[in-house]
Amino acid sequence: MRASGPPPRPTRRTPTLRSPMTRLKGAPEALARAYDLALLDLDGVVYLLHEPIPEAAATLAALPGLDCDPVFVTNNASRSPETVAESLRGMDIPAEADQVLTSAQVVASGILDRIGTGGTVLVTGSDALRAAVEDAGLRIVDDPKAAAAVAFGYTPQTTWRSLADTTIAVRNRAYWAVANLDATLPTPDGPLPGMGALVGAVQTALGQGPDFVAGKPEQPIYRLAMARKPGGRAIMVGDRPDSDIAGANRAGIDSLLVFTGVVTPRLALRLKPEERPTYLGWNLAALTEPHPEPDWNDEVDRIGCGGWTAVLEGGEILLSGSGDELDGWRALCELSWAAADMAGYDSARSPVAVGEAAEKLLAG
Ligand SMILES: [Mg+2]
Repeated sequence: MRASGPPPRPTRRTPTLRSPMTRLKGAPEALARAYDLALLDLDGVVYLLHEPIPEAAATLAALPGLDCDPVFVTNNASRSPETVAESLRGMDIPAEADQVLTSAQVVASGILDRIGTGGTVLVTGSDALRAAVEDAGLRIVDDPKAAAAVAFGYTPQTTWRSLADTTIAVRNRAYWAVANLDATLPTPDGPLPGMGALVGAVQTALGQGPDFVAGKPEQPIYRLAMARKPGGRAIMVGDRPDSDIAGANRAGIDSLLVFTGVVTPRLALRLKPEERPTYLGWNLAALTEPHPEPDWNDEVDRIGCGGWTAVLEGGEILLSGSGDELDGWRALCELSWAAADMAGYDSARSPVAVGEAAEKLLAG
């Protein structure tokens, strides 16, 4: 006979589309309150080229009241933390040098971990990189054959000689640390060759890549930023899904994708699983706002968010409703991502959003 006891709990039906990889979260109050540390990308998030994002100054001023500390994280190794903080303050954005983490500092830290205090380093890069290497307690040498490590960062003064010296040092078994592998640098003349292109030149000559990459989406810059508040909850805010957000996912931290940089909501619909954020926001001010959680209906393949409802019908997503447009995008993204995962990801075959509400949203 069956032992008496509580009846078995009915198992909650999991919606066929629901996937743990494609979950936008909600925040009942100001988002930053849920985190101790906000890692902020700079270009496309805090400013765009040389113009501040209009909401950045007020958002940064509000963070202390939300018990959230900013860390400005940048792949750029050519400016010192002091210079970065000064230029932010010049845009009325509150910032101190000790709130900045540059990939130059991360390169120096990675080299220190490998070769120890007083180790010899050939620096190919800016004065800021040299300063970071010295501040870490390492010794700069000019002879590539005497270097136990190479610190390689971008500077417009890069010459064939500096690439050749890097090659000589690495061929002599020096530990090769680079600031980032960004293919291009954003400039007023459009994207121009970045660190990744310079590393490629040396890599072609050597037949081997770097031993250590500091910047996003690689993990060292996230680890060092998170170490500023050990055990704290961190969120990454970025505009590049393939860098800021992909790196945050690999680091196991939440992320906010903002639409002030390289990506529009329409592009966000087609993000690959590893590039999807935890939250969506028009701009940095999303850190100071609550975020409604997309709500799955367990019976049908339907997601509600705010005043909007998205329903998967055949190969199409029927969107209806009205209200805050971002909630409409949240519902659309969540359902598009889930649908793409179900079919196996194929960006060419994302479901199309249809209906009057979708047309209005997509036109906006
Ligand atoms: Mg950016």
